[in-house]
Amino acid sequence: MAEITGVPWADMTFNGWIGCTWKSPACDFCYAEGYGHRFGVAWGAGQPRRRTSADSWRKPLAWNKAAALGRFKQCPGCGWRGFARGTICPHCDTFVSVMDSVRPRVFGDSLGDWLDDEVPIEWFVALLRIIWGTPNLDWLMVSKRIGKWTRRMAALVDQDGRRRLAHTQEFYLDEDAAK
Ligand code: SF4
Ligand SMILES: [Zn+2]
Repeated sequence: MAEITGVPWADMTFNGWIGCTWKSPACDFCYAEGYGHRFGVAWGAGQPRRRTSADSWRKPLAWNKAAALGRFKQCPGCGWRGFARGTICPHCDTFVSVMDSVRPRVFGDSLGDWLDDEVPIEWFVALLRIIWGTPNLDWLMVSKRIGKWTRRMAALVDQDGRRRLAHTQEFYLDEDAAK
């Protein structure tokens, strides 16, 4: 059972931005679009993606630290997973002291597509740095644009990509906080 997200195969969700463009018939039932509209984010090609708050971007760092300390648990009695508070499982009588410490599963970008090439390249880099800087989390990344991976990586190393990154520090992690 997920603690922070309703997605059954993940424990938490991280969203670095909101917004996307329809890609295939599978997008007909996109729940992210409805969510985005509620927060005033227009959907589709040419519409600006909205970056989430700095607090949202810091959350994976906190999860990573807690997981490193063995605080993310799985109950052997009922299967509940989460950051244990108190001395017993919230769903059964199993003592936290006998629970297993496990790696949190993080669903990266449920309100967009992490390979969407209308997302600023700086945000994409920041996402990769977050993933790199949180080795105690298992990141689950799904995309309808897997073919864009090569193009996104190429954009990082071309001249324009290097120039933009050199002048954009705002999305980079605090290296000390990532340890
Ligand atoms: S978030 Fe996913 S389902 Fe929604 S429009 Fe983008 S690719 Fe399609
Ligand atoms: Zn339990």
